[in-house]
Amino acid sequence: MMRLYVLGSGSRGNCCAVEAEGMALLLDAGFSAREIERRADAAGLELARVAGIALTHEHADHACGAPRLARRLGVPVLTATGTWARLADAMGTAAHVPIGLRVAVELGPFRVEACPTSHDAADPVAIVIRTSDGTGVGLACDLGRPTAAVRYLLRNLTALVLEANHDEVQLRTSGYPPVVQHRIAGSGGHLSNRAAADLLAELHHPGLAVVVLAHLSQRCNSADDARATVAPALRRAGFVGTLHVARQDVPLPVIEVVGVREGQLGLAL
Ligand SMILES: [Zn+2]
Ligand SMILES: [Zn+2]
Repeated sequence: MMRLYVLGSGSRGNCCAVEAEGMALLLDAGFSAREIERRADAAGLELARVAGIALTHEHADHACGAPRLARRLGVPVLTATGTWARLADAMGTAAHVPIGLRVAVELGPFRVEACPTSHDAADPVAIVIRTSDGTGVGLACDLGRPTAAVRYLLRNLTALVLEANHDEVQLRTSGYPPVVQHRIAGSGGHLSNRAAADLLAELHHPGLAVVVLAHLSQRCNSADDARATVAPALRRAGFVGTLHVARQDVPLPVIEVVGVREGQLGLAL
């Protein structure tokens, strides 16, 4: 069993964490260190248990709090090599652990896997955390399109935090200049609600228990719109778990990540 904390998500900051066996791993640190401490406190996550900070890419809304937090907590930072090259100066004495294709990292109870994503950053990745009981949590935000590598990495997960950035019609009528619209909708940009729904339907399997929609655009999306597009597609695929929508300003209540089969067994007992 893992616990999933979604401390906040959106273009103004992203931070999640997983916890198992008394240890935790931060997934992105895109608020100030002080704000992450405040949110962790509110969500009941003890930062003293954090064993590392894994970052998907160097954009400020995913990484701005990492240097200070890594130094303060005395923990390593897990990133792809190209991401570290961009962040190393700011990181000072913090230790780096490279993640990426074919590099599975063991940190306490966590096995950390990653693969490249299509996004306009130096070396962006999607990240999957697995524990020895078979539970798997995935984080895929800021991806212009889901590549074969992403689909492969995100298979057989118990919980998935996936970007549902924009509604395609709202983006077209948003008033953003065409060049910005192209950047958001393009292969180096962000996943739409429709694309997230299609990917989730494809990734669905009987063990998928939790889906969290994340990185919603404030201007071109709403929690209701994201849910209205994704929920029917998940239901059609056979999903019987829980669907959450991450919020920018406040953490979600802690999510217990229990496999569907494991949960049913618990009920039967
Ligand atoms: Zn972002
Ligand atoms: Zn980004």
